Amino acid sequence: MSEASDCIFCKIINGEIPSAKVYEDNDVFAFLDLSQVTKGHTLIIPKVHQKDIFHLDPKIAEKLFSKVPLIAKAIQNAFHPVGMNLLNNNSELAGQSVFHYHLHLIPRYGKDDTFS
Ligand code: 5GP
Ligand code: ZN
Repeated sequence: MSEASDCIFCKIINGEIPSAKVYEDNDVFAFLDLSQVTKGHTLIIPKVHQKDIFHLDPKIAEKLFSKVPLIAKAIQNAFHPVGMNLLNNNSELAGQSVFHYHLHLIPRYGKDDTFS
């Protein structure tokens, strides 16, 4: 079985696993993280399976990162956070648990945030 066919984020992209979709186009998919560290915690992923930053094709990265401001503003409009953290874990050692490249968008509301 290939890495991609066994990947939960590839299954989310093709609808095999349900998700709360935030944004989708030809190249990029964004959806709410299952474990919301703060309200509106979103993951942005390329539609092409890429393991991590070390395997991310620069052309795919360009497409993904060009959509980040748009998606960040959509989250801001929907949830009204004060701020936002962008985070990306690469390798198990660095905290990566799903091996399909993803960028966390973590809205920040104030002192009661569960994320620090
Ligand atoms: P990582 O630890 O690799 O940086 O982040 C993986 C993230 O994927 C975690 O925050 C985890 O909650 C999220 N996640 C894992 N499985 C699913 C799933 O099936 N659906 C959604 N929406 N998020 C998931
Ligand atoms: Zn994948």
